[in-house]
Amino acid sequence: FAGNIRTLLDGLESGVAMTAVVKANAYGHGAPAMARTAIEAGANRLAVATVGEGRQLRRADVAAPIVALGAIDPAEAPAAVALSLELMVGTETLLAAVERAAADAPEPLAMHVLVDTGLRRYGAMPELAIALARRIAAHPNLRLQGLATHFATSEDAGDTFADEQRDLLLRVVDALAREGIAPATVHMANSGALLRGSAFHADAVRGGIAIYGIAPSIDRPLPGGVRPALTLHSRVQRVFDLASGDTVGYGRTLKVERPMRAALVPIGYADGYRRQLANHAWMIVGGERAPLLGRVSMDQAVVAAPGGVDVQVGTEVIVAGGDPALGAPSMDDLGAMVGTNSYEMLTGISARVPRHYVRAGEVVEIAEMATS
Ligand SMILES: *Cc1c(COP(=O)(O)O)cnc(C)c1O
Repeated sequence: FAGNIRTLLDGLESGVAMTAVVKANAYGHGAPAMARTAIEAGANRLAVATVGEGRQLRRADVAAPIVALGAIDPAEAPAAVALSLELMVGTETLLAAVERAAADAPEPLAMHVLVDTGLRRYGAMPELAIALARRIAAHPNLRLQGLATHFATSEDAGDTFADEQRDLLLRVVDALAREGIAPATVHMANSGALLRGSAFHADAVRGGIAIYGIAPSIDRPLPGGVRPALTLHSRVQRVFDLASGDTVGYGRTLKVERPMRAALVPIGYADGYRRQLANHAWMIVGGERAPLLGRVSMDQAVVAAPGGVDVQVGTEVIVAGGDPALGAPSMDDLGAMVGTNSYEMLTGISARVPRHYVRAGEVVEIAEMATS
């Protein structure tokens, strides 16, 4: 992960900053540790989606600037201000709430105006965006940190809509410049646009999926050296024999044709290993492919023990992700098997899966589900 950030930063023109997007528990990787590592590796700002995610990072003593990218309820403005979260403002009601909350802030609060240039979610249309930016620039307790937009199609091959979106944002920047208003940074690039080149980088990029070492689409390959940060591992918990005629798991969907060995792996759909993977996915057990047998349960899955491998209780299992040379399905592969994408597979890895952080081959930190 740290290497990915450094490699992606190396590919930016000098002076272009990286905001590391660590929303959704850092795309399933665990937010506090990833946030700290991102800053150490050279990102200068973090991005979350919600005020609650920002609070989690502040409670973990993360002091770096944090922008909340999501649609924030104006009622949350006081909490956001108290946590020194920067917000993406796209409506007058949110700005009014921020102005009230900022009334007795000790120092100016950094805010961003989100311009809707085509995504049609919660940004301000250009005219309104200009009005919001003016108000922020004129307010004694607010600072216009960013003017931003978000792309709808930047990861698609042959896309030209992102160019239109960028040009519209730049027209808003120009209109404000003519009034003498300049945001500290103009930012627009998600991973799809980051990988498309400097025409989209502006002053800062917001790197999400790419910093975790996964391409946003097959049309936007990653630079060499950027690799998946996460490997989903388990260990064999039980090894047992199946006789012909046995069925495995709920619903008896799989009937065994010939005697075979099976291995129980303690990962199931409550961990984010989806039920729809049955009949599609495999794991790597002792270096070999082990296809799933029968349904995935809430807490377990059963795989066929690969022939020629001495499978024991405790044998390491690579469930997904990691170095492609290991042979496990990638997060993109798992997504394709269940009709979704890598983002949804990663963010679906549930809270009860412990996250082990490895540096130079050593586990340096373990984040486990809270016990209280
Ligand atoms: C999630 C998000 C990103 C990161 O998107 P990726 O495709 O993962 O790079 C960037 N900007 C905004 C506003 C987002 O919500």
